Amino acid sequence: MTTKQQLTEALKQNFGFDNFKGTQEEIMLSLLEGNDVFVLMPTGGGKSLCYQLPALISEGTAVVISPLIALMKNQVDAMRSFSADDGVAHFLNSSLNRAAIDQVKADVTAGKTKLLYVAPESLTKEENIEFLKTVSISFYAVDEAHCISEWGHDFRPEYRRIRPIINEIQERPVIALTATATPKVQHDIQKNLGMSDAKVFKSSFNRANLFYEIRPKTANVDRDIIRFIKGQEGKSGIIYCLSRKKVEELTELLKVNNIKVLPYHAGMDSATRSANQDAFLLEQVDVIVATIAFGMGIDKPDVRYVIHYDMPKSLEGYYQETGRAGRDGGEGQCITFYSAKDLRKLEKFMQGKPVIEQEIGKQLLAETAAYAESSLCRRKSLLHYFGEEFEGDYCGNCDNCLNPKKQVDAKEDLLAVLETVTALKEKFKADHIIDVMLGRETNEVRSYRHNELEVFGSAQGADRKFLNAVIRQATIAGYLDRDVENFGLIRITPEGKKYLSRPKAFKVVEDNDFTEQEEEVVLKSGAACAVDPELYSILKDLRKKVAKKHNLPPYVIFQDPSLEAMATTYPITIDELQNITGVGAGKAKRYGDEFIAVIRRHVEDNEIERPEDLRVRSVANKSRIKISIIQAIDRKIDLDELANSKCMEFGELLDEIEAIVYSGTKINIDYFINEVIDEDHQEDIFEYFKEADSDSLSEAIKELGSEYSEEEIRMMRIKFLSELGN
Ligand code: ADP
Ligand code: MG
Repeated sequence: MTTKQQLTEALKQNFGFDNFKGTQEEIMLSLLEGNDVFVLMPTGGGKSLCYQLPALISEGTAVVISPLIALMKNQVDAMRSFSADDGVAHFLNSSLNRAAIDQVKADVTAGKTKLLYVAPESLTKEENIEFLKTVSISFYAVDEAHCISEWGHDFRPEYRRIRPIINEIQERPVIALTATATPKVQHDIQKNLGMSDAKVFKSSFNRANLFYEIRPKTANVDRDIIRFIKGQEGKSGIIYCLSRKKVEELTELLKVNNIKVLPYHAGMDSATRSANQDAFLLEQVDVIVATIAFGMGIDKPDVRYVIHYDMPKSLEGYYQETGRAGRDGGEGQCITFYSAKDLRKLEKFMQGKPVIEQEIGKQLLAETAAYAESSLCRRKSLLHYFGEEFEGDYCGNCDNCLNPKKQVDAKEDLLAVLETVTALKEKFKADHIIDVMLGRETNEVRSYRHNELEVFGSAQGADRKFLNAVIRQATIAGYLDRDVENFGLIRITPEGKKYLSRPKAFKVVEDNDFTEQEEEVVLKSGAACAVDPELYSILKDLRKKVAKKHNLPPYVIFQDPSLEAMATTYPITIDELQNITGVGAGKAKRYGDEFIAVIRRHVEDNEIERPEDLRVRSVANKSRIKISIIQAIDRKIDLDELANSKCMEFGELLDEIEAIVYSGTKINIDYFINEVIDEDHQEDIFEYFKEADSDSLSEAIKELGSEYSEEEIRMMRIKFLSELGN
């Protein structure tokens, strides 16, 4: 019997499948011939089978290196269900006790075990290396191989030691598998596993059934999500948030809005986590709100939507997570709420990490921002990022294709870019190139004396965003190339050089402007549930009047988003008013009556039917954490310690305190301010807020200058609002 026949029969017999998916068969044959094999296949492509099946029909034991304990257990369970003997598959990881380890070793030694899953940190243990030296190994499989690369989204240092350890145990063929396929990551994997000669099988990464959409993240994001889910009756969906805290909050919010939902994150105990995961798989709940800890190795074929509450840190992550929608080839909506502010926050969090890691992190973030803001076909951009060319300009299944933007002529701009890149000897990144073109005398420009170049100021007066779009789209069109190894230096391709001597038409689409939209959408909102403009202006007038009476800036009374929310949901009792963002019990009591009265009159006069069903109820006990913060501040706990004890970044703690103060509770953090901010600074900032006509942080930073840190300003703003407003 040929190997081919053997494979087909084993496929049917063990897995019950009639046909191989994609290139599975070629991959297996190549591995069984003794080659090193490298498999790049999108999530859901069927990678596991590529080593499971060959393992079953090979002599000896296949060693499978896989990063997640939960994942191993699932796979081992699955393999056992195909066999009469539980010994057929085992795992070795830190969760096993001594007796269990001895059992595993006995089965492996007896030749019963075809697949041995090993966690990378177990593989590095001397005891296990010694044991594996005595075993007859068929081949090694390295699953989720992108963990090797710092450029992947899930770097695991122990993965770097796999090759030397394999050499020490015994050399056998290696099959590496991943769904992350940027050329850089691919290169890192092959280099690190010492398999440059491997046969590479790369499937297309196009998931034609997925619909990609990026929406601006406005103050209404929660409502947008609730409304979206309510329109997806009975369908399964995943919502990803970056922080555990957000997961908890959003879950509560969805719950009180009658959505069947459970949370999932690494801070929960493992029993609850797997119970929640099962409830989702069994469709006892429709929605899982999760951090990225959820989903690897989960095979629910009919997830109909994946929502990103926060933009992921990298496009690799984005692609992987959105990839969990529509695995069965059916509908899969991928909606991301994007705000440039979120990414800036992420960038700030990276401070303190090693410089090289920061550089990498920043570049990944920049790619993500570019993708989000671009108005090119999402599929084309995404596939280009993964080193794959998408034929044509429109996929017809993403937001940008459904709402195409007009193309504008950019021939002259492209020429200017190419000339500048040449003049800069292909040694600079996009930002610097644009500075030179705009004629900006930044320190960096001056230090290289680029202000003396002929191209300096060649695009004076142009729009930075537009030039960025030109550079990016010229990269996709193949005129420019980004040197990823060198943190994104821009080079000219041979095509680009040709273009310089023989220019032709070149059109670009301008980026979506999210800053503008962020404000617009808040004001206009969706048609079904828009801000009532008349009421909004009445409320603004009232706010002005009240502010004057108390001799306070208007924003101290209620902030704009609160007024907008009032002009949308028409609260007419104090209870309802408290449900509005930014309105706590304190403010409701102090100012509420007047506002409710005005709203009620407006509702009656205009016979408005209040949108009861659409009213988003907020969570009563999300205040738990706030209460504990208030108590800690009463006890004069240092704020940095407090942040630590709550596992928050300092900035996140300030977010919480700000929310407390804005909803009308007085808070006194003088004890801490006096310790960390010198008196002059305190005075300056305080005076600034007294004079300023808004409490905007960015305004304050701009006005006060770089001498004052953002954190200082925020703490002083808290003091100011607390003393004057509450
Ligand atoms: P990946 O690891 O590439 O994300 P998996 O190995 O988890 O994907 O496989 C995804 C799904 O495809 C699983 O449900 C698996 O059972 C199914 N599958 C794999 N190979 C085949 C095949 N030849 N025929 C039918 N279904 C398959
Ligand atoms: Mg897999």
